[in-house]
Amino acid sequence: MKRILKCVRCGREYPVDAPRYRCNCGGLLDVALKKENSDDFSSIKDVWRKRRCSNKAIDQSGVWRFRELVYDFNEDEIVTFPEGKTNLYKIPSALLDVDSAFVKHEGENPTGSFKDRGMTIGISFAKKLGYKMVICASTGNTSASLAAYAARAGLKAVVFIPDGKIAFGKLSQALAYGAKTLQIQGDFDDAMKAVQEIAAKHRIYLLNSLNPIRLEGQKTIMIHTLEQLGWNVPDWFVLPGGNLGNTTAFGKALMELKEFGIIEKVPHLAVIQAENANPFYRAYKNGFKEFEPVKAETIATAIRIGNPVNYEKAKRSIEFTKGVVEQVSDAEIMLAKSEIDKLGIGCEPASAASLAGAKKLREKGIIKKGDSVVMLLTGNLLKDPGATTDFNLGKLNIPEAMPNAPEKIGNSPEEIEKRIKEILGER
Ligand SMILES: *Cc1c(COP(=O)(O)O)cnc(C)c1O
Ligand SMILES: [Zn+2]
Repeated sequence: MKRILKCVRCGREYPVDAPRYRCNCGGLLDVALKKENSDDFSSIKDVWRKRRCSNKAIDQSGVWRFRELVYDFNEDEIVTFPEGKTNLYKIPSALLDVDSAFVKHEGENPTGSFKDRGMTIGISFAKKLGYKMVICASTGNTSASLAAYAARAGLKAVVFIPDGKIAFGKLSQALAYGAKTLQIQGDFDDAMKAVQEIAAKHRIYLLNSLNPIRLEGQKTIMIHTLEQLGWNVPDWFVLPGGNLGNTTAFGKALMELKEFGIIEKVPHLAVIQAENANPFYRAYKNGFKEFEPVKAETIATAIRIGNPVNYEKAKRSIEFTKGVVEQVSDAEIMLAKSEIDKLGIGCEPASAASLAGAKKLREKGIIKKGDSVVMLLTGNLLKDPGATTDFNLGKLNIPEAMPNAPEKIGNSPEEIEKRIKEILGER
C-alpha cells in the first residue's frame, strides 16, 4: 500500500512521514491510500480472522490485526498493549424500538476509551520519527491514553486540560501514568489552540485527532464492528461527535472498504452532539453552508467542544454515507446512560449520546423499525464517577430519572432482616 498525506482542500501532497498536521493552505490532511499491485484483498477477511489465533501482540490487537488498512510498521516498531479487543453487544429492543440493535463498547480498551486505537499508531509513529516528547489537548481521555502509551514507549508526555470540568477517572490516569499535566485557564478549544502553536515551534509530536495518522487507527472501530457482524453491514452507525475524529475516521474507513471491494453497502452515519455543544449540528442544519464555533457546555465533558478541528473532513463523512446529525439534551444523555448502565454494560456520559440520539431519530422515523443499528460507546463508566453518582443520588434535577441512592440502615439484625424482606418482596 502506498501512503501519502493529501490536503482535503487543495489536493497538495506531502510524504506520509512529513510530519505535518495541516497543508500550507491551512486545509486538513488525510492519509491517502493507493493500492499497489502486491495488495490483494480477495481473502483479506480470512487473513484478519485467522490472526486472532496468534499469540503475537501485533495479531491480537484489534488495530494491528487490520494493519493492511492502518500502517505497515515492523512488529518491533509498534507500541501496543494490545488494544482494540472490544465487544459488540446485542441490546434488548426495549431500549431502541428496532429489530436489531447493538452497542460497540470501546470503553473496554486498555485505558477505557477508543482513544487507544489512535494512540497505538500515533505513539508508534512518534517513536519511529525519533521524537522524545508528545503532547495533546484533551477533555480527558486523550490525555489518559497518551500518558499510558508514552509511558510504555519511554517518551515524555505533556497534556493540556481545561480549567475544571475534567472527569476524575481521566485526570487520575494522566497523573498516575506520569504525564506532565498542565491545566490551562480556559476551555478545551483554548487548549487545542495552544498545543497547535507549541507543536509548530518545537520538536514535539502533536497527538490530537487533528493528526491524520491517529485517525488511521480509529478506522478499525468500524472495520472491527463490521467483522463482528459477519460483514452484514448495518443500516445505521450512531456515534457521539466532539472534535469529530471518529466521524472522519469512520467515513474514511467506509470509503476505503468500498473502494477495495471489502464491503458493498455503506451504513448511514448518525452523529450526535450535545445541545449546548452543537456546532456540527448547526452546520448540518444549514446544509453545511456555514460553520460557526460555539461556546460549549454539557455534562458530557468528552464532547464539550465548540470548535471541532475535523469539521471539514467530518462533513465529507456525512455526505458520503448520506448520514445525519442530531442533538440531544444533557437530561436525555443521562437518562440514556442510565439505561445502558442498568444492562450491566455501562458507559460514560458522552457515550450515551449515541443511544439518546438514536432514540430521537427513531421517534422522528428517520431510523425505521426494520433497521439494524450499531451505537458506539466511546468510554468506560468508571471514567466519570461524579456524573454517575450525582445521577443516582438524584442531584441532577431530571424529573424522569430513577435514582439508585445508597440507603442508610441501622446495624441491628432485626432492622436488616426487615429491610431485606421488603426488598425480596419488591418487584
Ligand atoms: C474523545 C471522545 C469523544 C469525542 O470523539 P471525537 O472523535 O472527538 O468526536 C466522545 N466520547 C468519548 C468518551 C471520548 O473520549
Ligand atoms: Zn491545501
